[in-house]
Amino acid sequence: MDRSTADLVIVGGGIVGLTLAATWRERDPKARIVILEKEANSIAHGTGRNSGVLHSGIYYGTGSLRARLCVEGQSLMKAYVSEHDLWMDPCGKLLVPTSDAACDTLPILVERGHANGVTTELVDAKAMLELEPRVETRYGQALWIPSTSVVNPKAVAGHLATRLIASGVSIRYGTPVQGIEGRDVMIPGEMIGAGAIINAAGLHADRVAEEAGLELHYSFQPFKGKYWKHHDPEFRMRRLVYPVPDLQLPFLGVHTAHNEAGEVFFGPSSTPILGRENYRGLQGLQWGDGLRLGMGLCAKLFRNTNGLRTLAWREAKLLTKSGVAAELAGLIRGVRSTDFSESLAKVGIRSQIFDPKAQRLVNDFVVIERDGVVHILNAISPAFTASFAFARHVIDHYLTTRE
Ligand SMILES: Cc1cc2nc3c(=O)[nH]c(=O)nc-3n(C[C@H](O)[C@H](O)[C@H](O)COP(=O)(O)OP(=O)(O)OC[C@H]3O[C@@H](n4cnc5c(N)ncnc54)[C@H](O)[C@@H]3O)c2cc1C
Repeated sequence: MDRSTADLVIVGGGIVGLTLAATWRERDPKARIVILEKEANSIAHGTGRNSGVLHSGIYYGTGSLRARLCVEGQSLMKAYVSEHDLWMDPCGKLLVPTSDAACDTLPILVERGHANGVTTELVDAKAMLELEPRVETRYGQALWIPSTSVVNPKAVAGHLATRLIASGVSIRYGTPVQGIEGRDVMIPGEMIGAGAIINAAGLHADRVAEEAGLELHYSFQPFKGKYWKHHDPEFRMRRLVYPVPDLQLPFLGVHTAHNEAGEVFFGPSSTPILGRENYRGLQGLQWGDGLRLGMGLCAKLFRNTNGLRTLAWREAKLLTKSGVAAELAGLIRGVRSTDFSESLAKVGIRSQIFDPKAQRLVNDFVVIERDGVVHILNAISPAFTASFAFARHVIDHYLTTRE
């Protein structure tokens, strides 16, 4: 077996791994940094399969890592995108209530926004229509969040990877990590002795952690996010339109999302699934893991953990296009079920962990350091937005290097 050495080895070349490498490179221009990525590129999973929204930080509980790192990360990501002339649409977001209960949530979100340092404005129906002519104004009010923007996540990751390679970082695509022993990282036919190791393996981070000897008290629960694409190339949205979320449920709800080409998508759904990379059909399903995930899911549905039965009911409505159209009717006007179809190319899976002791889906980022290896678990949304700030946080608080 070949043997090599590096100062820092990062497992996973998604946006979290890339921004960690970039942050470390800035601090130590001479460090030998190696990123090990099992896929042929950086965008095969979460990084290339999200809505591309740079979130404001309004949703997350004040004091949580997600709140702090989202706000800081949004401005760092915007600075990166502007500095390198990448596409960004500073379109802002309208949070629209779709029920009386949602109207009662609006003041809570205003309060959270204020506490988290996010500028928001309560707007009336007239202002809503001036901002976005297609918006539904049934409840006569919405929350306007001007800082929310959209970028092209694939372009951002690709640009960053290219810059890293030019700066001497070695990104080894097609290289699965098979195990970590102490500070040695095993890959096919080779062992890399590392000064420090960071596990940023997204959907597989808990497995990589367990293979490195970490006893986790968390289990894993992947959720699939499907999108539907509007057929009409002339159909445009000026703003992002999201529902006011049900704060008892873990996800943000079906919303609009547009890309650089102006194409408009609706989604994502939030369906609990039994495979970490189960993007379609039986793809990515593994017996042992699937069985474990299936048993855990049945127990959660039975206990209605985190309102999962309520969520499953909401998801069931999205099984038909008329159900999706009914969901959208609360947000925007004039979209019929014949106007869109499911996008097979745009499907994402959330790297969600579950805390069996607390019987809750974990709703913040989790970082654990053990014996010189740092594990990043639960890099859920808004980890794309937060990534540069998340990288600083991990390096400042968890990373200890060894010569
Ligand atoms: C449907 C959906 C919509 C979202 N929308 C948004 C949004 O609008 N805004 C936002 O901020 N966030 C959003 N997110 C969240 C965001 O996409 C993720 O938080 C982010 O991409 C996480 O990045 P990552 O680098 O941790 O994961 P990944 O991109 O999954 O990268 C991890 C990498 O590790 C690699 N890997 C795994 N195991 C191994 C191994 N053993 N050896 C080597 N490599 C390995 C994988 O191949 C993968 O490339 C969304 C997520 C989903 C699912």
